[in-house]
Parts: sequence; structure tokens; C-alpha cells
Amino acid sequence: MNGGFTGNRKIPFLGFATFSCNSQLTPKLFFMKVLLVSLFLLKGAVCTSPQVYICDSPNSIRYHLRADCKGLRNCSHRIIQVSLEEAKKRKLTLCKLEQ
Ligand SMILES: [Zn+2]
Repeated sequence: MNGGFTGNRKIPFLGFATFSCNSQLTPKLFFMKVLLVSLFLLKGAVCTSPQVYICDSPNSIRYHLRADCKGLRNCSHRIIQVSLEEAKKRKLTLCKLEQ
């Protein structure tokens, strides 16, 4: 009874081994390709639109490169992150402390 059971288990095990040997390379390469592509896209998105920090107040005239800049400590409104393009649209200029 035991012998027959072991004999039956051998066949699926061999089938599994063959299957994993054949399919080992393809998913790994595919995963690496996806990883590289997403890293490239992520880098591209960051590079094309640099982010700056501004005080979301109608009186603010500066934008900041760092969220922890001293110039932002006086901000009594929200500090928001916008693209450099957006900051320039609002006619903001670079903070004097960060020039
Ligand atoms: Zn600043």
C-alpha cells in the first residue's frame, strides 16, 4: 500500500521539476524588464517637472526648494508642493535663503 503511494507521487514531482526548469528564466527576465522600465519612467517624471514648496497664501512671493526651509516657518497657511512651472505661473521667485 505504501509502495504504491510513493510510486504515484514520483510522476507529478518529476513533472513539476521539468516545468520549473523550463520556466525559470522567462518570468525573472520579464520582472527585471518591468522594473527597469518603471524606474526609467519614474526618473523621467521627476526630471521633467521639478517640485518646489510654497506657502499657500495670497501674500507669498517666494518658492522654496526644501520643505524644511527657514523661510517657510513663518507660513501660517498650508505648505504645498507644486511644480516649478506652477510656482513661476504664480510669479513667485526663489527664496533668498536658497539662492
Ligand atoms: Zn526657502
